[in-house]
Amino acid sequence: MVGLLKRPLAPILCVKVKNSAKDQPCWLRFEGCTNDDTVVFAHFRDIRLGAGVGRKPTIWGCPACHWCHSEADRRTRTLEYDFVRKIHAEATLRYLAHLHETGVININEGIT
Ligand SMILES: [Zn+2]
Repeated sequence: MVGLLKRPLAPILCVKVKNSAKDQPCWLRFEGCTNDDTVVFAHFRDIRLGAGVGRKPTIWGCPACHWCHSEADRRTRTLEYDFVRKIHAEATLRYLAHLHETGVININEGIT
């Protein structure tokens, strides 16, 4: 694997994080955001984080509605790529902090 992660994350952790998006609002809020019941976990795809196209079992991402998720995955391209990446990366960091604060994940357990 290329990048920072030398071993894959535990699948159970990835499922837990993915399922955490249920009942969350959209965390991307791009112009046109519908923030409705289409919100699911939108993976932040970066091969250096172990999540390229077709590889999604990671904890990197945040809840997003269908509209914003489509922009993040570039199925639609209404907004500029760099802007979308920046917002998605920031939301991913904030969502990881939220997951830690709410006890879904424990960042400290990963430190040895
Ligand atoms: Zn949205």
